[in-house]
Amino acid sequence: MRIGVLALQGAFAEHIQKLQALGTETFEIRQRSDISEPFDGLVLPGGESTVIKKLLIELHLLEPLREMIRNGLPVLATCAGMILLAKEIEGGEDGCFQTMDITVKRNAYGRQLGSFRCIELFDGKPIEMPFIRAPYVTKAGNDVEILAEHDGNIVGVRQRNQLALAFHPELTEDDTVYRIFLQMIAQS
Ligand code: GLN
Repeated sequence: MRIGVLALQGAFAEHIQKLQALGTETFEIRQRSDISEPFDGLVLPGGESTVIKKLLIELHLLEPLREMIRNGLPVLATCAGMILLAKEIEGGEDGCFQTMDITVKRNAYGRQLGSFRCIELFDGKPIEMPFIRAPYVTKAGNDVEILAEHDGNIVGVRQRNQLALAFHPELTEDDTVYRIFLQMIAQS
């Protein structure tokens, strides 16, 4: 099993550590040639979604990755990654991949005091959730499963091959999210 981690900007190194600790082979996606060999899963990390989107376009990565996601490649997207997958962004900003039937609100907890940690249920299990200038989901389509909420807002969703979280599981000791992602890959 080989997992590609988008490594253009943001918090990708911690995802690689997490996946490697679970015995998974990973590689960094930095340019078009990095995705010429087949792979089994994709991680879209947190960071600044506008910067990541700009780089995806410039490096000609957006179209081929979108096609792979549409064709069922399992994806784990966190924070900015969730914004990249969303079909719509509140306020009319254009989306990026737009493969997931959700609407997100960027910087939903405010820009200044927007970072905090809490414990919430994820797929029924309590886990630690660090939020860093995070988005949340304001609308989800009928076939989008809601896996986590915080303060009545949706912060974890799955739609078929796509798992998207508003928080940063790579910044905790817990690996629940990664185990679920690896299961999705095994079953795909
Ligand atoms: N605020 C960032 C954005 O809108 C996301 C922050 C993060 O990924 N930690 O892209």
